[in-house]
Amino acid sequence: MAAIELRGLTKVYPGGVRALDALDLVIPDGEFFALLGPSGCGKTTLLRTIAGLETATGGSVVIGERDVTGVQPGGRDVAMVFQDYALFPHMDVTDNIAYPLRIKKVAKTTRQAKAAEVGARLGLEHLMDRRPGQLSGGQQQRVALARVMATQAQAFLFDEPLSNLDARLRLEARTFLKKLQRELGVTTVFVTHDQAEALAMADRMAVMEAGHIRQIGTPAEVFQRPANTFVAGFIGSTPMNLLDGVAHGGTLEVAGCALPVPTSAEGLLADGEKIVYGVRPEYNAYAAEPAADALGGKVVIMENLGASHLVTLDVNDVMVQAIVPEGREPAIGDQGWAVPRRDRALVYRDGELVAG
Ligand code: ATP
Repeated sequence: MAAIELRGLTKVYPGGVRALDALDLVIPDGEFFALLGPSGCGKTTLLRTIAGLETATGGSVVIGERDVTGVQPGGRDVAMVFQDYALFPHMDVTDNIAYPLRIKKVAKTTRQAKAAEVGARLGLEHLMDRRPGQLSGGQQQRVALARVMATQAQAFLFDEPLSNLDARLRLEARTFLKKLQRELGVTTVFVTHDQAEALAMADRMAVMEAGHIRQIGTPAEVFQRPANTFVAGFIGSTPMNLLDGVAHGGTLEVAGCALPVPTSAEGLLADGEKIVYGVRPEYNAYAAEPAADALGGKVVIMENLGASHLVTLDVNDVMVQAIVPEGREPAIGDQGWAVPRRDRALVYRDGELVAG
């Protein structure tokens, strides 16, 4: 087991795409770290560069105090699970799990014993003679994990390992993987498109944009206090309201309404300063009666979220989203008010969070 440290890591592909731009990142020993970001931001490139499958064009990769920047993938002592699991179709489960040990020239009886032990740990004992084609997606995923575990690497690298599973299996696999990682305590870097997955599983996470890390933090920090408007707009199952505003003394003028300055930005704004006011719909409660410190407008869209509704209000031509508790749904065209929680609203200046 080992920490992973990236220093000024840069990858420019032939043709000039700068997929990683001088990244600095330290992932402590034993941490479960998620990489999140829109398609094409460089997540897979980052993982492959840690694994040595891509060569860095600048900077360094250190794993457990050893600089492995120039080391071949086989010498890095990390194990990677790919999106498609990359199982061998002609080998049974035992041989698939034992394959990395065969490459390391471990004796047959030893590697079969190891495959049986790891397979049992992952609940595969009754499937050891089957081939991948005779397994479900979830079972194949466990075989791929077992193969990684059998290698006893210093770090695990997962590239969207759950993306081929259906919604229910995916939830199951999420819990399972998290538990396994806890038990083994192996430093793990996990790439995902799915922010719910990252929020649920990671100890810490990084949000990437165009080859840069835009924020590093615990899931709670990234969700509650996005460091910039990019992360604020990217994280959250319903996007945060990001509304233009101007500071006037103790109040903010937002969409033609007066709101108190959020607690986090109190005393930090100059008079006349242009800002962006951020509040998640979850912290923006809908009221059917006129309310103070609220954004008042007309209901234009209602979306059912299951236990609640997401309402979109047209507030002086600015769209504002709020949550309506069950049983209080307004009708389209009704007049309504969105009341932001002052202790949860945020202020951005030049795209960056203003906070004391
Ligand atoms: P996704 O979520 O869609 O898998 P990603 O965040 O993993 O995307 P990468 O696959 O790392 O992104 O790609 C980062 C950038 O590098 C993209 O602009 C991509 O087009 C480019 N890229 C990736 N691989 C190569 C390559 N072999 N040659 C040239 N450009 C590449």
